[in-house]
Amino acid sequence: MATMIIEGDRTKAASGKTYEVRNPATGEVVDEVPAGGPADVDKAAQAAAKAFTTWSKLPANQRREILHKASQHMLSKVEEIAPVLTKEQGKTLLESRLEARRFGENIGWFADLADKIHGQYVRLPDLTTYGLVVRRPIGVCGAIVPWNFPLTLAANKVAPAIAAGNTVVLKPASTTPLATLLCIEALIEGGLPEGVVNVVLGQATGEAIVAHPLIRKIALTGSTPTGKRVMAKASETLKKVTLELGGSDPCIVLDDADLEGAARAISVGRFFNCGQQCLSTKRLYVQEGVYDALMEKLIARASKLKPGNGLDKDTRMGPMHSETQRAEVEAQIKDAIDRGAKVLFGGGRPKGAEYEKGWFIEPTILGDVPDGARMWTEEVFGPALPVRKIKDLDEGIRLGNDTPFGLGSSIWTSNMAAAYRAVQELEAGYTWVNALVIAHDELPFGGTKQSGFGKEHGVEAFLQYTEEKSVVYGGVG
Ligand code: NAD
Repeated sequence: MATMIIEGDRTKAASGKTYEVRNPATGEVVDEVPAGGPADVDKAAQAAAKAFTTWSKLPANQRREILHKASQHMLSKVEEIAPVLTKEQGKTLLESRLEARRFGENIGWFADLADKIHGQYVRLPDLTTYGLVVRRPIGVCGAIVPWNFPLTLAANKVAPAIAAGNTVVLKPASTTPLATLLCIEALIEGGLPEGVVNVVLGQATGEAIVAHPLIRKIALTGSTPTGKRVMAKASETLKKVTLELGGSDPCIVLDDADLEGAARAISVGRFFNCGQQCLSTKRLYVQEGVYDALMEKLIARASKLKPGNGLDKDTRMGPMHSETQRAEVEAQIKDAIDRGAKVLFGGGRPKGAEYEKGWFIEPTILGDVPDGARMWTEEVFGPALPVRKIKDLDEGIRLGNDTPFGLGSSIWTSNMAAAYRAVQELEAGYTWVNALVIAHDELPFGGTKQSGFGKEHGVEAFLQYTEEKSVVYGGVG
């Protein structure tokens, strides 16, 4: 049985309760884990507060060295961790390997910043004084993670937090705790001091983290409704919050686009991770002149995405993570078809005995999806893409922005003036121009509108795990 990790100890829930983690491809039990609650969060927060007193005072270059060593050790275990991620989440082994590597690399990337961020010296009008702006870690930070990218999204929070000298109480999604535990265990084995990162498990631990008085900042990745609840609750103790929430990223393809490149990016953007991605091509607007040609290329790509158990070598798309998620996407597809959309590819469940026990779904492309369909107005968190013809860029931008979300967006065109307009006018935290929808470590990533606020990745993420303090030194003149 897996356990929580609190102050380096492998612990059961205070209540003694447990629950099962199941494989979305087979329905089999992968492991039993503790169902933690407020008492466990309290223990973890106390442990993190204790560790903060030493971790935050270490010279930053020592933190850098410790984190590099720990991340290298974790990276040596990718082949052990990846199959566990596939079994609990459903994604293909290739996707799990990439994700496990991203975890270790992210810790290394932020480790390098640990001793590179400085404060300021400020001259004051009275020359017998001078000012400093010093940057300090915040304290204990809560990290709350969803199930779609359990490791990447944990690392996005843990890595900048600990590199800046904070300590963490980490809560994975209740259905995907196992690979996360292995990653944190590997960091501890590799030299991360006990108590710097504590892992609590179980549904009830999320709210307890947000409410806990010792926790000073919350970073949540999750749905927009969860973000609203977390923000309201965090206001009671005035915690800082970073919210990475839902998205419905538009992609505009103009007549002068590189269609091969666009088809590849759209296919990866919509179908990677079985479409369960926050940054993802979720609404496609194609200029009339290239609609048929682009659809042909996209359908050819979708037809190669063989669904199957993520552990099988020939699988190109795993199952959806849960029955509820699949039912939601199927209802959105049905709504579009009922309103008159044309099924260009997929639209149902793959057939065959191997698909009967898991939450499998076909990659799906729907054309002529009418206005008002749920696929345009809601987030589609699965491998189903609504497509619509547009007359010109104006229409593409207008429709692209017609959403409460503002996470990502992309445009494919060889006209740099059109690309520039899209970059200026699309309401989103990211715009890709003729490029794959991939978030880069170097660039700050986060949404606008109801996709949340605050940044992960980049120097900006590190800064958000620090507080500035102004200091005046007198009597020096
Ligand atoms: P979710 O909101 O249901 O859960 C996310 C996490 O929050 C889980 O660990 C959950 O247990 C916890 N949680 C739920 N209610 C809580 C509460 N009241 N207080 C504290 N914690 C609480 O999301 P999900 O279904 O796991 O993930 C899918 C959603 O995440 C999608 O909307 C997707 O777009 C979004 N997402 C966003 C990004 C991004 O970076 N913007 C990345 C990935 C996923």
